[in-house]
Amino acid sequence: MMLHEIAPKSFHIEWQNLQPERDDRIIFAFDGQILIAATEELRFPTREVFEKWILFPRIHPDSGAYTYLFAIDDERYFTMVYDERQFRPFLENLYKDIPEEDKTYRFVPVRALRNREAQHEAFAGMMAGMLTGWYRRSRFCGKCGVRTRHSDKERMMYCPHCGNMIYPQICPSVIIGVFSKDRLLTTRYNPEHLMFDGTGKTFKPVVHDALVAGYIEAGETGEDAVRREVMEEVGLRVKNIRYWKSSPWPMSSGLLFAYTCEVDGDDRIRLEEDELSTAVFKTREEIEPRVGKDIALTSALMEAFRRGELPERPIGELPERP
Ligand SMILES: [Zn+2]
Repeated sequence: MMLHEIAPKSFHIEWQNLQPERDDRIIFAFDGQILIAATEELRFPTREVFEKWILFPRIHPDSGAYTYLFAIDDERYFTMVYDERQFRPFLENLYKDIPEEDKTYRFVPVRALRNREAQHEAFAGMMAGMLTGWYRRSRFCGKCGVRTRHSDKERMMYCPHCGNMIYPQICPSVIIGVFSKDRLLTTRYNPEHLMFDGTGKTFKPVVHDALVAGYIEAGETGEDAVRREVMEEVGLRVKNIRYWKSSPWPMSSGLLFAYTCEVDGDDRIRLEEDELSTAVFKTREEIEPRVGKDIALTSALMEAFRRGELPERPIGELPERP
């Protein structure tokens, strides 16, 4: 099940010009972490509970108002966009500021939400982290430096001085199933290759079997990005590129598009060693089953192949498109 698959619940991103009622949820994000109320089975606090938080009086005078995020079914979620410079000194000491005996609130890393039982809450937390980060980066106009305002019609920040409009940033990328006959190309990150988490911090990748992947560059189609990434990472030419599925990936403001394709000619791999440590073609039987909860599009594609839900030769036996 992928991150965004929260059925029977449904996600509503449409902007609403609202302030929260006392029972609406507040998702407060800081540096890749989310505030959780330890009561109510570790849920996001309601407005009523949030306003009892020890640090609330310190953030509130600057921020003043809540910002609407989204709804899941009829549960509404809001955030508070604060002045990071003023608030950082408090939050950096947050573990000192929260008394040991006060177990009512704690911060959990957004990444840890992946393992939550309630999938819609994991999705809500990650989406809130993404949107709050965007709101904080959009508080001033990038053209003239004037403080921006929120449109009351849609999720857009605009500059009252020059009219600049800023919409949430989404970064499209491709996840690529490269096939050679009945085998799928799996890669592993170089464990020393540093990744960025979007807050300026780096982390080392979790090393497990993955797929060739990368951002779509300006001016490229998805198919162009597939050809370029496969060439860059493993030195192979590909053909018969076909779209499979897509998934949002809010932790990197991402929108992932999965494609399948076939090696064109020689399948000898020339590895890009800075980023990857191995790249190996595996048969269905050689793909390791994913245990537990796994919400990534990469895993979904590998698992579909392992279970035979992707044709073993996904494209080779289909007629070429005209
Ligand atoms: Zn401006």
